[in-house]
Amino acid sequence: MDSQDSTARPFRVIVVGGGIAGLVASNCLQRAGIDHVVLEKRAEIAPAEGASISLYSNSARILHQIGCLEAVESVGAPANRVKFRLPDGTIISDVGLFEHLKENHGNSGVIIERRRLMQILYDNLPTKSLVRTGCSVKGLRLVEDGIEAVLADGTVEIGDMVIGCDGVHSSVRSMMWDYSNKTTPLVALQRRKRCASMKANWKVLLLTGPAMPEIGHHVFTFVTFRLKEPVIWPRRMFYTAQDAEQLAETVASYPVCESLLFGELWRKRERASLVNVEEGVLDKWHFGRIVLAGDAAHKVTFHMGFGGNSSIGSIATLCNQLKKEIKSHNESSLSPSTLERLFESYQTKRHARMKMNPDLGYSTKLLARWIFPRLPERYLSDQFSKIIKREPKLEYIGMGSFPRGQLTWEDEATTGNSKDEDLE
Ligand SMILES: Cc1cc2nc3c(=O)[nH]c(=O)nc-3n(C[C@H](O)[C@H](O)[C@H](O)COP(=O)(O)OP(=O)(O)OC[C@H]3O[C@@H](n4cnc5c(N)ncnc54)[C@H](O)[C@@H]3O)c2cc1C
Repeated sequence: MDSQDSTARPFRVIVVGGGIAGLVASNCLQRAGIDHVVLEKRAEIAPAEGASISLYSNSARILHQIGCLEAVESVGAPANRVKFRLPDGTIISDVGLFEHLKENHGNSGVIIERRRLMQILYDNLPTKSLVRTGCSVKGLRLVEDGIEAVLADGTVEIGDMVIGCDGVHSSVRSMMWDYSNKTTPLVALQRRKRCASMKANWKVLLLTGPAMPEIGHHVFTFVTFRLKEPVIWPRRMFYTAQDAEQLAETVASYPVCESLLFGELWRKRERASLVNVEEGVLDKWHFGRIVLAGDAAHKVTFHMGFGGNSSIGSIATLCNQLKKEIKSHNESSLSPSTLERLFESYQTKRHARMKMNPDLGYSTKLLARWIFPRLPERYLSDQFSKIIKREPKLEYIGMGSFPRGQLTWEDEATTGNSKDEDLE
């Protein structure tokens, strides 16, 4: 594709990565009327990989706005109670986490197989041709009037900005540092060094299984194991099916409910994999015309299941700001300095939010064994609600029939609500 004069085309966004963040971005950008392309390296939109994703009330609010909550709820499992057990199966804590979240926010959230969510997000796109699969981005070129993404086959997409939604091992992030290295080498080096905060302390055995009468619906299981030592970026570890098999053997006798042991689930599994889970929030998410979103910028603690939720929230924040800015510039192109200001404001908002997510990793066992059973029933949900109620919605789409809960969303707060004050 030839480079075009930026004045001759509408403002255009290049989204690298068609995972959860990338597909939500296309849904949000299409509804904002912003031209874009999503470039996904995999051949398929919804590959048979991974297990499930937990979507909390804040994601439900945005999915409702873009028109796919109903489809998600129809195939997902309603989130319900959370039970903590001892290795012999004894329940030490049984809290109605999601029931309370529903009371607080009007929607309990849903647990859905990742690939089904991906398919729904894709099917929900008004124009599907804006998402291109089999397009691996190998390079970014800052040109005078925009930015070019160079694909593996040598073709080029031109736009005004790039959103790096290419996951925790983001190559857009590395390309961004390469650019900043040219102008501010020492600063870029410090950023690379600080990326070492993106580290894996845990590995997780992911398993999907068929519907089982003991559980009532499809099985998605995650078993987490502490790594002997952290695996620090850019080091990466890959595990074989045999590694997964051996590890599964070590927890085969653990109960997953009243009538099933993990080993039984393992034998009936449909898919399983063993992966490290990185965690970390980077301190700089943009440079020039490049900005990061989703796991590329913030990979929050795995134990709370906020990864997909945080990505959806970041995309909503970025799209809100883009929509507003483009409107105030009469739909014409945004200058590099305007983009810089916009990206900085987006990062400031989201970075503070991501840092609010507690790092439960090291303390999960201690909390589950000794602390949670002694706390009031609503304690856990109220802690979650403090995070959820501050998450954004899309400011340019109405809320329609989304139910209201007892708490006020921060972006809808007008007067004091005593229930909200109780939570503070
Ligand atoms: C295959 C897969 C399975 C997963 N399974 C689970 C799970 O079961 N449970 C869970 O909680 N989380 C899972 N995750 C992680 C989860 O999706 C993310 O933590 C979270 O949703 C944030 O999404 P994201 O879009 O930022 O990143 P991701 O969902 O990781 O998506 C990144 C996308 O970018 C694409 N990409 C990477 N590099 C390039 C490039 N150079 N050019 C073009 N495209 C590129 C990748 O193919 C991928 O589709 C999985 C991720 C993947 C990729």
